[in-house]
Amino acid sequence: MKCPKCKGDLETKHHENLRVERCSRCYGLLVEEVMLTEMQASWMSETFLDVGAASLGKKYDNFDDIECPLCEVKMDKIVDPGQTHIWLESCPKCSRVFLDAGEFTDLKHETFSDKIKDLLKGKRR
Ligand SMILES: [Zn+2]
Ligand SMILES: [Zn+2]
Repeated sequence: MKCPKCKGDLETKHHENLRVERCSRCYGLLVEEVMLTEMQASWMSETFLDVGAASLGKKYDNFDDIECPLCEVKMDKIVDPGQTHIWLESCPKCSRVFLDAGEFTDLKHETFSDKIKDLLKGKRR
C-alpha cells in the first residue's frame, strides 16, 4: 500500500493490541477510527507509533485532496473543534484516518492536558 501523501511505502506496525499503517518516508499514520480511540487510551503508544518528527509532518501538511489508499476515494478533511490546528483526513468509506507525523502525539497530549485542566477546574469548585 502506498502513502496517500508522499507515495512512500506504508508498513504495518504493531504495538500491543494496536495496529497502524505507517509511511516509511513521511511517517504519516493510517489508522482505523476505532483504533485511534484505543491508541489514545494506550499509555505511551505515541512514542512507539508516532515516531516521525513533527517538522516532517508539517512539510506534508499542506497537501490537499488526498485519496484513501484502500478505497481510492477522496478523503474528507476533519478538524477537531477543540484543537483547530490539527487537521485530519478521514475516509468516508472505510473510516480510516490519516495523520501526519507528530499529529497523533499532539492530539493525544492535548486531550490529556485538557483532561488535567478539567480535573483542576473540578478541584477549585
Ligand atoms: Zn508518506
Ligand atoms: Zn478508505
